[in-house]
Amino acid sequence: MVPCKICGGESRITHRGTVLGRHQATYRMCVECSYWFIDQPHWLEEAYSEAIAAIDTGVAQRNLRLSPLLTSVLVGMFGPDGVYVDYGGGYGLLVRLLRDAGLDFYWRDPHCQNLFARGFEWDGDRQGAATAVTAVEVMEHVTDPVAFVDTCLRETGADSFVFTQYLHDGTADPAWWYLAPEAGQHISFYAAPTLRTLAHRLGMAYHPAGTLHLLTKQKFRKGAFARAVKFHRCLYPLRRRRLPPRWMQDHEQLVRRIRCAA
Ligand SMILES: [Zn+2]
Repeated sequence: MVPCKICGGESRITHRGTVLGRHQATYRMCVECSYWFIDQPHWLEEAYSEAIAAIDTGVAQRNLRLSPLLTSVLVGMFGPDGVYVDYGGGYGLLVRLLRDAGLDFYWRDPHCQNLFARGFEWDGDRQGAATAVTAVEVMEHVTDPVAFVDTCLRETGADSFVFTQYLHDGTADPAWWYLAPEAGQHISFYAAPTLRTLAHRLGMAYHPAGTLHLLTKQKFRKGAFARAVKFHRCLYPLRRRRLPPRWMQDHEQLVRRIRCAA
């Protein structure tokens, strides 16, 4: 028996497929919480030889779309003075865009080189505890979701975790585009019951809003997060009014750091 890593329940094989064009993958789904996962993906080192897969053509438009959405939602939920860490921040484009929007955002990614947000790597000693962690296109890459979220929270001192995720509906469709076996990086897939169970395991509340999700130890009214997401466009100008852009201030800060180091 291969137990589910989220709830410990029994899992069953849904199908076998070919990953990266040559590795045999066994997909399993938990009968209790519908966590769908690849059992023992042994090719991850090869899959991450290129941190952001070539077939991820959505990388630029995703960050441009998410920047105003996250700005509006995070200020709405946590106020204008929050400190945020983007886990799995990739090339740092989203962190740079969110700092430009006025949010105090930092980058963290053990697998990728920071290109756009250099100088704003997360350092808990310098920044103190974070308000929330964001994880965009990350949760489908992790082998142990409970341990991953727990680590994110412990490393940053945050009590909230905001992430993107396409959900499946509990039916195991081997042709679902999100499985993306060509790149070999997507190994964990969630349904709504999976995320409710994940939250329960971590002692957190789960707030869904389409493909955006919030796990939090804070008390929010039911539906508050979904409303913040639904009305993010009309609330965006109001939220931005409380946030001066940081690009010039960031520039000056980095110049000072270079001068001090010289
Ligand atoms: Zn389960």
